[in-house]
Amino acid sequence: MRLGVKLALLLACASAAPLTLATIFTLPSGQRELRGQLDQIHALAARELADQVQRALLDKLDALTLATRSLRLANLDQEARQRALLLIYQQTKGADVVGLFDEKGDAIVDPVRFDTERGGGSPDHEAVGKGALAIYAGNVPFREALRTRDMVIGPPYALPDSAGDPISRLVLALPVEGARGARWVLAVEISLRSLSERFARVRVGGSSAFLVDGSGRAILHPDAAVRGSRKDLSTHPILTGRGDSRWLGASADVPIAGWKVVVEQEASEALRPLRKLALRAAFWMALALIAALAVGSMTVRAVTKPVARLRAAAEQVAEGKLDAEVEVTGHDELSQLGRTFNEMLSGLRERARLEATLEISTTLELKGVLERLLDGLARVVTYQRAAVLLRRGDRYRVSAERGYEGPHHSGLLEEIAPGGPVDRALRSEEPAVCDGEACLAIPMLARGEVIGVLVLEGEGYDAERARIAVSFTQPAVIAVENARLFDEVQRLATEDELTHAYTRRHFMDLAKLQIESARRFKQPLAAMMLDVDRFKQVNDTYGHAIGDQVLKAVAERVKKSLRVIDVFGRTGGEEFAIVLPGASHEAAVGILAERIRHVVADEPIVTDEGEVHVTISVGVASAHPGCEDLGSLLKAADAALYEAKRGGRNRVAS
Ligand code: GH3
Ligand code: MG
Ligand code: MG
Repeated sequence: MRLGVKLALLLACASAAPLTLATIFTLPSGQRELRGQLDQIHALAARELADQVQRALLDKLDALTLATRSLRLANLDQEARQRALLLIYQQTKGADVVGLFDEKGDAIVDPVRFDTERGGGSPDHEAVGKGALAIYAGNVPFREALRTRDMVIGPPYALPDSAGDPISRLVLALPVEGARGARWVLAVEISLRSLSERFARVRVGGSSAFLVDGSGRAILHPDAAVRGSRKDLSTHPILTGRGDSRWLGASADVPIAGWKVVVEQEASEALRPLRKLALRAAFWMALALIAALAVGSMTVRAVTKPVARLRAAAEQVAEGKLDAEVEVTGHDELSQLGRTFNEMLSGLRERARLEATLEISTTLELKGVLERLLDGLARVVTYQRAAVLLRRGDRYRVSAERGYEGPHHSGLLEEIAPGGPVDRALRSEEPAVCDGEACLAIPMLARGEVIGVLVLEGEGYDAERARIAVSFTQPAVIAVENARLFDEVQRLATEDELTHAYTRRHFMDLAKLQIESARRFKQPLAAMMLDVDRFKQVNDTYGHAIGDQVLKAVAERVKKSLRVIDVFGRTGGEEFAIVLPGASHEAAVGILAERIRHVVADEPIVTDEGEVHVTISVGVASAHPGCEDLGSLLKAADAALYEAKRGGRNRVAS
């Protein structure tokens, strides 16, 4: 994984982790707290409903007790009893039916029904038809009432109202003293419609409430089918107390009837706000993560960019490019590192410069010095092409180059053109950079004189690069100048200045080598001595300077007719000697010597004073087993030359 990615992730984790952790730890505890609070709310609601049920039952029972106590039913005649029932009915507001039964359960008077009395149609009362009346009669708990001698609440039952909606009802029974010591039961049917409506109002946040009897069967329930069938709900988790994570809720007792009120709420519904909160938290967390990643990657790029630049520079240094400085702008640790890197580079360059200067100084051969200069320079300043132009008289000649093969050479020539960087460098004796910093020309100054110019082609030759190149080149210039002088001295020692033939001494050295080689490999070898005929007369007639011109031309013509391996030297004033390896005596005399004689004699020499006609005499001698040393061979050739002179000049003798 790249450093940048690692750091971005680290930053993202560091910034998003606290938020995530806070959410992870806060949400469950928040959920627990919310559940606790909801449990309390549910318990309160259940309690309140249970109180309402209890109060409703008690109200009815109280009203019934009060009514019966004030009326002595046993002492009344049948008609008065009927009226008394009506009175009771009126006092127990909300009763739907009031009836009086004997011990056997037979009605003593006709039950009083609300709908018959008032003509039906009241929201507080249920219509009680014939069938309903029979069911009412069947549900009167008169045995229980007689047995306990106290008020009894009969079992709840559900009957449909005029709209077909099942309405829970029950009968309250009260034992009363009957005629002639008999015990009768006063039975009032009441509907639980208003309670049912109150229960139905508990609907906030998906919650609902229901009422069950002692055996867990539904009395009031929002679901009409459950209510109508009086479904057994005894296994409901809130009633069993087993707890179910899907449901929240609480129950409360209605002591008077042994019933239970249950308030329940679906957990998913109840905890919806918390879920919403969790979703919102997740959204913000994701947003925070994205923001952290974005900011992180931006910050990291700011950090890794200089590092990447340093790495690229270090790679260039590893490849040997010691001018791969990094750009440093800030003052932070990375900038400090960049500065240290640049200082290290400058140290390395100084070392390379010293090494290269030392290396350059180890040779006196000009070509070697220039090659080493270009090699050493490549280590401190990057270039694609480079050339050293050295001055020869008024002209500059390419003495060493790199990368100018083929068509690129013409580019170099363009730069030398007037007004070009080379021209400017030579005139100003200061480094010159061409447009776009693509080339650099450094004048090479030795002892206050321009001896040449160094041309570099590449890119980015700014002032700093130019400074590095100059600081490297300057010490090397001395070595170049020394090598140049040495080269000159060498040339003067071996080459005759006027005729460019070898000096006598150098000729003797080379000729000795050739004789030895011929002897070792048993190869033929010929030697010739040449002398310009009556040269004194040329001097006398035209002067010494014209004599020199003639002498130079003679040597040129002779040299041109020789092979590369032949050794040609000036042995005296107008005397020359030639050693011809591999040439047989016949070939040397008959062909080579004659050819040489002809190239001089056949054409007059053009001088400043007009044409001058000269001839030469040639003496030829060949090496043979008895004549192997140079001295005797040249002596023999000299003797032959003397013969040629004596024979009338302009001829070959052997
Ligand atoms: P020959 O060899 O045919 O007998 O006659 P010659 O006139 O050439 O003979 P000699 O050896 O007497 O004269 C040689 C002359 O060459 C003498 C000298 O002035 C002249 N000489 C020798 N070296 C040079 C030189 O470098 N330049 C010129 N101009 N003349 C030279
Ligand atoms: Mg002579
Ligand atoms: Mg002569």
